Amino acid sequence: MDCLFCSIVKGDIPSTKVYEDETVFAFKDINPMAPVHVLIIPKQHLSSVNDVTAENSAVIAHIYEVAAKLAKELGIDESGYRVVSNCGADAGQTVFHLHFHLLGGKKLRVDMC
Ligand code: 5GP
Ligand code: ZN
Repeated sequence: MDCLFCSIVKGDIPSTKVYEDETVFAFKDINPMAPVHVLIIPKQHLSSVNDVTAENSAVIAHIYEVAAKLAKELGIDESGYRVVSNCGADAGQTVFHLHFHLLGGKKLRVDMC
C-alpha cells in the first residue's frame, strides 16, 4: 500500500524525527501552523480515528503519553497546547494514516468548528 506516513516511518521519505519507539513515531510537520507542530502517529497503518477498535486502541493511549512527554521536552506543557486528529473530509484530513497534531508555542485560536 502506498502511504506517505508509512514511508516516513520506514525512512523511505525523510522527516525530522522527534521521537520513536516500538509502536509510535513523531516528527515535525512540514508546514508548521505553530512554533511547535509535531505529528504523532502509530507505526501500524490505521487510516483515521474510524479505524480505532478495542483491539488496537492501546496505541492511542500511548500516543497521549508521548504527547505529554514531548510537550514537556519542547517547553509547552505549562503554556498549553492542543492535541488534535482530523478525521475525514469535513475535518480536513489530507493524509490517511492516523495522526495527532501536537500544536503549541503560541496562543492558539479557539475556533474549533
Ligand atoms: P491533516 O490535514 O491530514 O490533519 O494533516 C496532515 C499534515 O501532514 C499536514 O499538517 C501537513 O503539513 C503534513 N504533511 C503532509 N505531507 C508531509 C510530509 O511529507 N512530511 C511532513 N513532515 N509532514 C507532512
Ligand atoms: Zn500508513
